[in-house]
Amino acid sequence: MDLGNNFNMPDNETNEEIKLNGVGASPGICIGKAYLVDKEGVEVVEKYFISGKNLDGEIKRFKAAVKNAVNELRSIIENVPDEVRRHTGILETHIALLKDKMLYDKTIETIKKERVNAEWALKKVVDDIKVMFQNISDSYLKERSDDITHVSDRIIKFLIGSEDVNIGEIDKRVILVAKDLSPADASQIQLDKIMGFITDRGGKASHTSIIARTLEVPAVLGVGNATKTINNDDTIIIDGTTGVVIIHPSGQTLGEYKKLKTRHEEHKAYLSRGSHLKAETLDGLSLQIMGNIELPEEVVSVLDHGGDGIGLYRTEFQYLTRSDFPGEDELFDKYKDVVEVMGPRPVTIRTLDINGDKAISSSNGSEEANPALGLRAIRYCLKRPDIFRTQLRAILRAAAFGNVRILIPMISSLDEIRDTKKLLNEVADSLEKEGKAYNKNIEFGIMIEVPSAVIMADVMAQETDFFSIGTNDLIQYTLAIDRGNREVAHLYHPFHPAILRMIKHVTDVGKEKGIKVFMCGEMAGDPFNVPVLLGLGIDELSMNPQSIPAVKNMIRSLKVEDARHFIKEALKQTTTMDVIKLVEASFGEMFGK
Ligand code: PEP
Ligand code: MG
Repeated sequence: MDLGNNFNMPDNETNEEIKLNGVGASPGICIGKAYLVDKEGVEVVEKYFISGKNLDGEIKRFKAAVKNAVNELRSIIENVPDEVRRHTGILETHIALLKDKMLYDKTIETIKKERVNAEWALKKVVDDIKVMFQNISDSYLKERSDDITHVSDRIIKFLIGSEDVNIGEIDKRVILVAKDLSPADASQIQLDKIMGFITDRGGKASHTSIIARTLEVPAVLGVGNATKTINNDDTIIIDGTTGVVIIHPSGQTLGEYKKLKTRHEEHKAYLSRGSHLKAETLDGLSLQIMGNIELPEEVVSVLDHGGDGIGLYRTEFQYLTRSDFPGEDELFDKYKDVVEVMGPRPVTIRTLDINGDKAISSSNGSEEANPALGLRAIRYCLKRPDIFRTQLRAILRAAAFGNVRILIPMISSLDEIRDTKKLLNEVADSLEKEGKAYNKNIEFGIMIEVPSAVIMADVMAQETDFFSIGTNDLIQYTLAIDRGNREVAHLYHPFHPAILRMIKHVTDVGKEKGIKVFMCGEMAGDPFNVPVLLGLGIDELSMNPQSIPAVKNMIRSLKVEDARHFIKEALKQTTTMDVIKLVEASFGEMFGK
């Protein structure tokens, strides 16, 4: 903890304290001097026409800029600090994007067709791609359009020859303030120099914030006007937990935040000391606590935070930043990497969950009026067995290298289970004939996230090895609340009595039929929910890796007997608020309430 002597005093008396709000992207508090970096991206691009005889030269200029951008990224990858080495996969994605047909070929085509300069053609292509992304309501996918902006800014920088601040070369201990930081910028952060960062743009699910969380550097993103309001050398406080930024803090505010910072660090140290201990209740019930990942490189974070395996590998993200579908070998390599790194621990690979709120360019689907109820997940896969087979083959091949479970999303009828199993058997037969290494003796599970699956759970349990409850969608489909709609977000709560009863029904069926019931929706990752989940009898929880230590700690503080007794009362409650109040009344002191 290095606050430095110069932060014992508030800024000049004439400076009034200013508070800004953004997205708390990476928890923790830091206090320091602001350092503004000119990472604005390229906003103004001139358009000019290229005569026919100069078109080839313009295309060459574009190709040279892309080559320089690739070389620059390669050199960043080679020189990243060890702490972020595992995230170079993101930069590799940027290199792939630089050469992506959708971007590279289309820009060349636009230069030729419209006879315009390379910068203008590229900006036009990128704007079109971004419009496509903006129509997606899933925030994670939406933020992938930031990756495209970062990549095109990098090319344009070479085209117009603009200078850039090299974050890796900052030699003062500061808080970075920027309009935007690309994952490549964030990966160059030297932990002994940069205390935290603030950006005008960005959101919680961006790769930049993933890197901030991995580095455990406090960060507030999406502030909107930070670069306009903050000046170089201003004293600022970042609270990455609440998303608050304070400029020119008063002496009193400084004192309060120093105390908060100490408390936060002590608590984090306490949690992480226990992160590798078993998640065992005081009366001896042990639970597996797993991590959710979207990209293979997040595996290390699961291990670092004490995860016992991967409870949900959302494979759709590998289909995202491209206009075609990934091939079998490419998928197999990624899955095998994850499976091998996890060693004997289980890796639950969920098959493609695209469309709905995760439409991708390569799905080529027609516009759906109601995509959440449309050709999503297993429905899409069964309609496109060519794409599904490719993924199933890659999964069965990866299963030869470790402990794999397969998980099928959005099951709403028994037919879908049977059709999927039929395809799996066909795929296994063909791998057998081809003499390829594979393993078909893997656990077969279904996501319970559609009300019909809850009601039919007893029937489905007979043809399934495990259930995994996806509360994100189960709440959406049960309460008729679009999970991406801000207007109804206040109604979205896992403690709605209907949701609790549904989960109870599923765990009861699991016990009766002898199959395990897991949970991988967001409900599993909040320590406040732990007494309820223990009481309901969930066998395994899976969550974002950073939540693992706190959830494990909560489990170790409870008795399952108390939770079982408590859930009987909780299930009698008739409103969400009554359930919340009961949790607070029964376990409040554990959450500091
Ligand atoms: C869920 O619906 O709870 C879930 C885990 O899946 P996703 O968030 O990917 O839809
Ligand atoms: Mg879901």
